[in-house]
Amino acid sequence: MQILRHSEQTLKTALISKNPVLVSQYEKFEAGEQRLMNEAFQPTSDLFGPITLHSQSDWITSHPEAPQDFEQFYSDPYRNTPSAEKRSIYIQSIGALGNTRIISEEYIKWLKGYCEAFFYGLTVKLLEPVSVSATRCSFRINDNTQNLQIHAGHILKFLKKKKPEDAFCVVGITMIDLYPRDSWNFVFGQASLTDGVGIFSFARYGRDFYSSHYEGKVKKLQKKSSNDYSIFDNYYIPEITSVLLLRSCKTVTHEIGHIFGLRHCQWLACLMQGSNHLEEADRRPLNLCPICLRKLQCAVGFSIVERYKALVKWIDDDSASTPVVAPRHSREDNVNLPKPAEAFKDWREWIVKCLAILQK
Ligand SMILES: [Zn+2]
Ligand SMILES: [Zn+2]
Repeated sequence: MQILRHSEQTLKTALISKNPVLVSQYEKFEAGEQRLMNEAFQPTSDLFGPITLHSQSDWITSHPEAPQDFEQFYSDPYRNTPSAEKRSIYIQSIGALGNTRIISEEYIKWLKGYCEAFFYGLTVKLLEPVSVSATRCSFRINDNTQNLQIHAGHILKFLKKKKPEDAFCVVGITMIDLYPRDSWNFVFGQASLTDGVGIFSFARYGRDFYSSHYEGKVKKLQKKSSNDYSIFDNYYIPEITSVLLLRSCKTVTHEIGHIFGLRHCQWLACLMQGSNHLEEADRRPLNLCPICLRKLQCAVGFSIVERYKALVKWIDDDSASTPVVAPRHSREDNVNLPKPAEAFKDWREWIVKCLAILQK
């Protein structure tokens, strides 16, 4: 295992910068906020540690990129900032997300609530769910894994057309695997930063995708024609476990981070680290390092304390915010499923430590 350790000075400059305007902006943060962010360059910090590399296939080794410090982010003319008119993040589900309508509805509300806390100060709205056929995207059966896949670029075009006036961005989520082009095996997600749209699949986040008895395999013969979407009817959907919920919250916030213009983090262990495979994605934390936190705070303008409190509240609230009361639902539908938040326990403990530093 290799440890990517930067000097205190390097981290301090990456966070605060040497530009006098940005230094004085930093000094305007509350004392507690500065105390927390300064943990970035405390070698003994138990909140922020270095990035560890476990294999040659890890992201940083296989995809060398230029690092982005706070100043580079701040002065990037192409980054996206929510305006007073465009402060909503929209989530569009494509195809069923859970094995019943209730699970699909609750699950997307959990994700919405998480994004609302994470991007504290922005509004998160749900678009009416659509079927795969409604997007008119191309699809295929993957030759290696035999699962159904939909064309990521076609979905992005669909989302761009549907983008509401007040949208900062629209993110599509689906339980169907994605492919970006014929020659590629698969992709976890794809985004267009200029259009402010992204599509992410959680098909591979279930517990059985990589097992030999994965139930999403289809026989070639089952495919009728390239525009017969009935193949998606009752197609296999992984169970919404706590781990799947955590992985999807992690992916969506990482990817929306990119839409704000945050590049892959190379400073400290951080949500914005790149990841090349599922094991590396699992290793990456749910939290932003102070450098990335300052970038997001600069774009959104939240209070760091209030944001952390909202995240704890989301973890503690055991079900989605709004009970199902619409009369069209039958009586047995009228339930709130408990939110499977067990996997967020470590993240909660970590946030509580941050709150202690912030409010000392
Ligand atoms: Zn990324
Ligand atoms: Zn970071």
